[in-house]
Amino acid sequence: MPEPVLDIRKLDAHYGDFQALYGVDMTVEAGEVVAIIGANGAGKTTLMRSISGLMRNRAEQITYRGRPIGALRADQIAGLGIALVPEGRQLFQSLSVEENLIIGGRTGRKGAWSLQRIYDLFPVLQERRNVPSTSLSGGQQQMVAIGRALMANPDLVMFDEISLGLAPVIIRQIYESLPTIVGEGMSAMIVEQDITKALSVSSRVYCLQEGRVSLEGRTDNVSREQISAAYFGT
Ligand code: ATP
Repeated sequence: MPEPVLDIRKLDAHYGDFQALYGVDMTVEAGEVVAIIGANGAGKTTLMRSISGLMRNRAEQITYRGRPIGALRADQIAGLGIALVPEGRQLFQSLSVEENLIIGGRTGRKGAWSLQRIYDLFPVLQERRNVPSTSLSGGQQQMVAIGRALMANPDLVMFDEISLGLAPVIIRQIYESLPTIVGEGMSAMIVEQDITKALSVSSRVYCLQEGRVSLEGRTDNVSREQISAAYFGT
């Protein structure tokens, strides 16, 4: 077995006295798409915030390409090649589409992704490149958030609630872009409410329930019943 790109061991996470994750174990292999599912409040966002350095962790709880990164700052983790497309996009409201994308490239990492490639992937962003991000539709904002992450030329990209609140036509466009995005050896973690969609693009799935991994398996190997038991705790 090759060494996983991302190796999470016994990860706990707290908000003050409240514990949101309990001993989460998880791996992501090179070039693999992993789905993370779970009900509201299960800990999916907390997991992604932990990996991206937005939560305090212990160094050895998260290893990336063999290096303990759990205690690094968010900017250091971004510089190593982990990018987050956060829930709710979190764009810089006062900046234009293009300025938001350029900020994504500030890690200085070199790779296949450039402004032009983002515009080829989402042509509407090129048309609207000079408008403030606030004047975009939710779907276009999500495209900017994805483009901003790709501009960092990451090895691992994490999508939190990739299609939440978007129109079906935009969701389709974003899902159609995924093979291009992950087609070059990039690994991905996808948090998605629509379980069928999440499973359709991933090779493995983890289900979180109240901060614990309640199911882990290959998507072609887990049954609907297993997923529903892991999701709802039935
Ligand atoms: P959702 O689908 O609603 O985003 P989630 O699976 O991403 O859910 P998290 O957002 O990670 O879940 O939340 C996990 C738990 O941590 C929940 O019980 C939530 O109420 C709690 N929590 C999240 N953020 C905070 C915070 N800033 N302060 C205190 N508790 C928090």
